[in-house]
Amino acid sequence: MIDWIDATRELADGVRAGYTTRLGGASEGAYLSANMATHVGDVDADVRENRRRLHQITGLGDIRWLKQVHGSSVVKIEPHVDPVDDQCSALVADAQWTDSTGIGLAILSADCFPVVIADASGGVVGIAHCGWRGAVCGVLESLVAAMRLRSTSLNAWLGPGICKQCYEVGPDVVERLNARISKNVLDAGPRRKHWLLDLPGYLEILLQELGIERIFRSPSCTYQDEDLYSYRRDKVTGRVATIVWRETP
Ligand SMILES: [Zn+2]
Repeated sequence: MIDWIDATRELADGVRAGYTTRLGGASEGAYLSANMATHVGDVDADVRENRRRLHQITGLGDIRWLKQVHGSSVVKIEPHVDPVDDQCSALVADAQWTDSTGIGLAILSADCFPVVIADASGGVVGIAHCGWRGAVCGVLESLVAAMRLRSTSLNAWLGPGICKQCYEVGPDVVERLNARISKNVLDAGPRRKHWLLDLPGYLEILLQELGIERIFRSPSCTYQDEDLYSYRRDKVTGRVATIVWRETP
């Protein structure tokens, strides 16, 4: 059985959200065991089996995957008219949202943050894939704008990602961040010309500046928690899936 960490209570009535871990899947080797990504070198049949188990544990018949590129494109998800193979139809985007019920919106990650946004009344849900690149190119701004709701009515939840203590960055990253924000979330690192970046802190400030007041965070660090995938720790590795959906009434 796929391991599923529920985060539903953070969001809104009628909205479900959560994420998978490494546990309970069919993948082997570096991908052990519940890798949800088809683009990381894992055996396709194993990923298909992991996704089948994910459908089973969430009760979702329809889960939408994106081809994530660390960009800022957002897509609105509508119900399928005809059954479509989700493995073949992934759209190139880093955020998706919907007002339909019963459709799971998935983001794959291993250190980057899945950022879930839900209208407090539970009518609209969205999710973004957000590392420092996504943050800099405005994926959160694009998602909130696309959802077209008063931002004070939105709740946000940051899923598992890399914490400040584990995330050393160099000038190549720091120079591209918004300096006004980053001065609050950078500490001197152990090496010269390197810093520790509080990426979830950076994202939280971005969300606050967009007008979102209620922001919750997963306590898990992907680098430290061996039950999660970390790109920085392992390089060749799998991805967990974070999913949000509106329940079918
Ligand atoms: Zn950490």
